Amino acid sequence: MNSPKQKNAPLVDQFQRHIEYARIAVTAHCNLRCTYCMREEHEYHTIADPELSSREVGKIIVALASIGIKKIRFTGGEPLLRKDISVLVRQAKSIAGIKTVSLTTNGILLDRHLDELIDAGLDAINLSLDTLDRERYLAITRRNEFDRVMSNLETLLAKATFPVKLNVVMMRGVNGDEIKDFIELTRTHSLTVRFMELQPFDDNQIWKTGKFMGIDKITEQLRSLNPGVQKKQGKSTEYFSFSLPGHQGSIAVIPAYTRNFCSSCNRIRITSHGKIISCLYDKEGLDLMPLLRNNADNNMLTELFRHAAAHKPADGKSAAEGQTRTSMSEIGG
Ligand code: SAM
Ligand code: SF4
Repeated sequence: MNSPKQKNAPLVDQFQRHIEYARIAVTAHCNLRCTYCMREEHEYHTIADPELSSREVGKIIVALASIGIKKIRFTGGEPLLRKDISVLVRQAKSIAGIKTVSLTTNGILLDRHLDELIDAGLDAINLSLDTLDRERYLAITRRNEFDRVMSNLETLLAKATFPVKLNVVMMRGVNGDEIKDFIELTRTHSLTVRFMELQPFDDNQIWKTGKFMGIDKITEQLRSLNPGVQKKQGKSTEYFSFSLPGHQGSIAVIPAYTRNFCSSCNRIRITSHGKIISCLYDKEGLDLMPLLRNNADNNMLTELFRHAAAHKPADGKSAAEGQTRTSMSEIGG
């Protein structure tokens, strides 16, 4: 039996990485069908399984906070499909030890939720938008929502007092020629554009079709468009980041696939069906649902998180061997 001191010891993995950041997928459902994420007829094999209730999300966050998690990100699927999303944010913000609560969204339903989310105390939003062209948006997402998302982005930037980041998955032959346009967006908009690598999590495996655009190519284009640009010290997940003189926003390159930040990874993930995923490339996960459904106490939940952390792999490459996760929507990116 753990002593009270051990019970609340911070979550540290076998490689002495302190886990302080949890990404919680609150639904596996989505209102888009991004080609690199899911098929049109996407059927997640356990999609019919019950998803975490707001009470269960609360219990998970209380347990995580008691072992040193400070940062929560809600993701999905599309987290704004949860009608109670602002309730989840408010609840997370009220839990002692939680310092920031953020959200990754495709932005379609922001017009419905933004005011409530701000009121609930949300600390940051990452909005995923891979193109600034309406036709391309339709081709990438298979849904005609470009105008609504652009309008919601404008409203978001006008109302938000917190950081806004755009997630842009770069694909050769799809949006590889739009780097300049996204940089231009940072001239008048106070946001960070994050160019990200494609990852091998999609039913169609489109990343094997020559569309992958690595950080070297992205950075090369950024440098040739902005000669002499100086890399600034960014977060550990940012390979290269800078802002241009006179621009309100900034640019960052995220080596999502190249993964040169595994050695400092501080994340743990929880799927919408209550599985703990210790690494993005870890396929199995540990199931919290039986504990949650049987009213397990905080100690039992934290023990499972410790077990997951103890098996967190050294890096994504070792975890990825033989893995075939079919959609990022299961784990929230
Ligand atoms: N639906 C929300 C959204 O799109 O922002 C949240 C969930 S989505 C799975 C989270 C992030 O994962 C998005 O920024 C999306 O672009 C990214 N993503 C999904 N599949 C990906 C893939 N195969 N490679 C790289 N990024 C991917
Ligand atoms: Fe939905 Fe996000 Fe996947 Fe696109 S990337 S299909 S918005 S979960």
